[in-house]
Amino acid sequence: MTFQNYSTEQLQKMDAKHHLHPFTDHKELRDAGSRIVTHAKGAFIYDSEGNEILDAMAGLWCVNIGYGFDELADVAAEQMRELPYYNSFFKCTTPTPVLLAEKIASLAPDNMNQVFFGSSGSEANDTALRLVRHFWVLEGKPEKNIIISRDNAYHGSTVAATSLGGMSAMHEQLNGAVPNIKHVMCPYYYGLAQEGESEEAFGLRAAKAVEDAILEAGPENVAAFIGEPIQGAGGVKIPPASYWPEIQRICEKYDVLLMLDEVITGYGRTGDWFAAQSMNIKADTITTAKGLTSGYMPLSALIVGDRVAKTLVEKGGEFYHGYTYSAHPVACAVGLRNLEIIEREGMIEQVRDETGDYLLKSLQDKIGDHPLVGEIRGKGFLIAIEIVKDKKSKSRHEPSGSGASAVRDNAIANNIMMRAVGDTMIMSPPLIWTREHIDMAVERVKAALDGAMKTL
Ligand code: PLP
Repeated sequence: MTFQNYSTEQLQKMDAKHHLHPFTDHKELRDAGSRIVTHAKGAFIYDSEGNEILDAMAGLWCVNIGYGFDELADVAAEQMRELPYYNSFFKCTTPTPVLLAEKIASLAPDNMNQVFFGSSGSEANDTALRLVRHFWVLEGKPEKNIIISRDNAYHGSTVAATSLGGMSAMHEQLNGAVPNIKHVMCPYYYGLAQEGESEEAFGLRAAKAVEDAILEAGPENVAAFIGEPIQGAGGVKIPPASYWPEIQRICEKYDVLLMLDEVITGYGRTGDWFAAQSMNIKADTITTAKGLTSGYMPLSALIVGDRVAKTLVEKGGEFYHGYTYSAHPVACAVGLRNLEIIEREGMIEQVRDETGDYLLKSLQDKIGDHPLVGEIRGKGFLIAIEIVKDKKSKSRHEPSGSGASAVRDNAIANNIMMRAVGDTMIMSPPLIWTREHIDMAVERVKAALDGAMKTL
């Protein structure tokens, strides 16, 4: 590869001069210089300085099968030789999206049988927003177009996806959000429960915020509720068990569609194909991306439930929506083989029956008592570690987020890639992690906490 002719310093200089990065303070980046990740294998990434780093984030919550599956490279090359591109507009298709849509429908909950492809989770959420509003127009209820979302939700970074999300810093930069999207509290028990409030009561209170918003807007004006089964980028916020059944009841009562965003939780991360199955949620749309190809190709799939699909097909006429790369044949070939690999290698069963609990329990046993750790929670291979200044009062370091940032920097220095979200440390490893990887990770997280203690 030609990059090998360049030194780290040369690449960093060119990067700073020409490359604008996502979600980055570019001045800071210019001072620090990018870490240049050059290759990866299994559970590890390698940088241009020769560091071998255990990737506890699976890239960006996406490399579910781990790195280095040559089969996917072979399948992509074969498909590129056979047919690198053709579109799925104007009554055309290519074979691989057909096979992949059929495969996704077979894995998804029973009522989910239609798939719309895009290239990213953000695009898929744009599609979902347009589709549910279009649904109510076709049903003769155009006034039903408000979407209820939650604070702290992350649904992507296009204008529509940012508007759907509940990240206040992103909203501040969005000069003109998509109208008629309302946000309510998220079910974050550790951070938002009142003194003495049980998890169950808190879950019901958080769900009631959705009901209150529906009543305030008038149910005749509300199209849908959107939520990640477990908020990911918002800090791996796992709702109490009482939350989703109550949301389901509320959506049914007021005839509000239920949109799930499983861009992170889909394809194995919670120990089932979808969190909708782990958490018994019946949705009208499920947004997926990331783990669909394990990040080997950009691809998203909006899975559409029978109710919405029936109306779209029977009453729809043309739905004026689509992307050049919808149903991209190479991405779909990779997606299909990726799902076959997950299935063949029993990766989901391994997380559900063995490694998921082992990861959570090992962290709780080995670092639960650490003075910087307020709570460790997890489901499958999604983990949050709350970083606190004082365990009892749950107070945080000043300025906000500095505690977790210090742990994150020490984690990377100890060769484990983790992410800091506000005051929370996140892990979302590849599903292939074994007990050995987990033991190694726990040791490194402990070293990171100890290192951070020295400066905090
Ligand atoms: N939805 C969720 C829950 C996500 O976590 C993300 C990305 O992290 C997105 C949507 C957006 O996906 P993308 O970055 O592929 O546009």
